[in-house]
Amino acid sequence: MEKKKLLRKLPKIDELLKEEEIKSELENTARALVIDALRTSIDNYRVLILNDSIENFKKEDILKDFKNIIEENKGSNFKKVINAAGVVIHTNLGRSLLAKKALENVINVSDNYNNLEYDLKKGQRGSRYSHVEELIRKVTGAEAAVVVNNNAAAVMLVLNTLCKDKEAVVSRGQLVEIGGSFRVPDVMTFSGAKLVEVGTTNRTHLYDYENNINEFTGVLLKVHTSNFKILGFTEDVSLEELVELGAKSNIPVVEDIGSGTLVDFSKYGFTYEPTVQESIKKGVDVVTFSGDKMLGGPQAGIIAGKKEYINKMKKNQLTRALRIDKMTLAALEGTLKYYLDEKEAVENIPTLYAILSDKSEHKKRAQRLKRKLQSKVKGFQFIIAEDYSMVGGGSMPVEKIETYVIRVKNDKFSPKELEKELRENKIPIIIRVANDEVIMDLRTMFDKDFDDVVDAFIILSER
Ligand SMILES: *Cc1c(COP(=O)(O)O)cnc(C)c1O
Repeated sequence: MEKKKLLRKLPKIDELLKEEEIKSELENTARALVIDALRTSIDNYRVLILNDSIENFKKEDILKDFKNIIEENKGSNFKKVINAAGVVIHTNLGRSLLAKKALENVINVSDNYNNLEYDLKKGQRGSRYSHVEELIRKVTGAEAAVVVNNNAAAVMLVLNTLCKDKEAVVSRGQLVEIGGSFRVPDVMTFSGAKLVEVGTTNRTHLYDYENNINEFTGVLLKVHTSNFKILGFTEDVSLEELVELGAKSNIPVVEDIGSGTLVDFSKYGFTYEPTVQESIKKGVDVVTFSGDKMLGGPQAGIIAGKKEYINKMKKNQLTRALRIDKMTLAALEGTLKYYLDEKEAVENIPTLYAILSDKSEHKKRAQRLKRKLQSKVKGFQFIIAEDYSMVGGGSMPVEKIETYVIRVKNDKFSPKELEKELRENKIPIIIRVANDEVIMDLRTMFDKDFDDVVDAFIILSER
């Protein structure tokens, strides 16, 4: 049909409001929302006509589009997705999943009034940090601790407290940028600390720090370069050496350890990753780390270390602006409880389990998912293969975890198209494309999601 004619054929809103289907929708949905959805669906069809994407349409098509829009608007925009990409700590997909005790704690304190800042023994105002400070002390061995919104905030608070208008001495090789544009130099500037870069990108010696210490020095800073590794001709100053120098010069040593590993992964066959406990043991004055990376809890920034410094941070007004929410505290407490017994932590914290679970388990799961897919989906081929998952979140960048994946072959969709279709599924499925193939990694998928994955492929096979 001619474009002009088609455009004239587009119904008016008043006209559609007379349809039985719309009338019944009006019984459940506010009029303004219905009109808005009608306008959107008419506009959608106007664009299709103008782009020559359709040659004709029926009123029913517009009503169907309207229904979809209403359904979509009723659901949450912030929703569950299935991570089949094989990146365990995927910052874009919400990093760590919460463990059971963490979830229960969040619901319990959010569904009720609670003792967030109320000391039930004394019957007076208490501290929100008390709910996790003792646990952090026990787990890390630190004298004291405080928590804020995230690790970027933690670094900023530490520097603002200990190094405002003073100099922070840091190795040039550690001035990193971490995903989501956390740039160590920028954060330091915001804190009011002046950055003094020492050494070169690949080599920094103890004398580089020593030669730059003067009456203006506020802290010696070590940043864990968690998302890259410099290989080859390198030299770095150990934490022990820095601690010794700090003690000698009476300057606090601060370490941003980033990932917040509380379990020694080398015990489980992984490359050694420095733990928080070890930094404390080596005598660091203050250490900061994320709650939602290797720790496997909620987004948070944990600051642990010597009491005299932690107390100063608690008193800093900036702490108020960076303060942690009750739901986060509840989740953090629930997560940290598992760490009182490492076995409990490894078995129950989803991030740890996802990283440490054996590939043989994922092979069995891949076989189960493949059987389900093959019996119900026509026109697709599913092949089980060995591959590698990633830790992600800027943690353990060179670590490749052996895993099992399902490779998807078909004649209808290109890998790029299939990626998009799965991403736009009602429950979005995020896959990875490698070697021009769509791959689903079992390590980051759950058995409870298998039926949803099968449904998504059934819809695609029927198209
Ligand atoms: C991830 C990371 C940060 C930022 O932590 P967030 O919790 O994401 O704010 C800071 N420093 C290092 C070394 C990191 O790895």
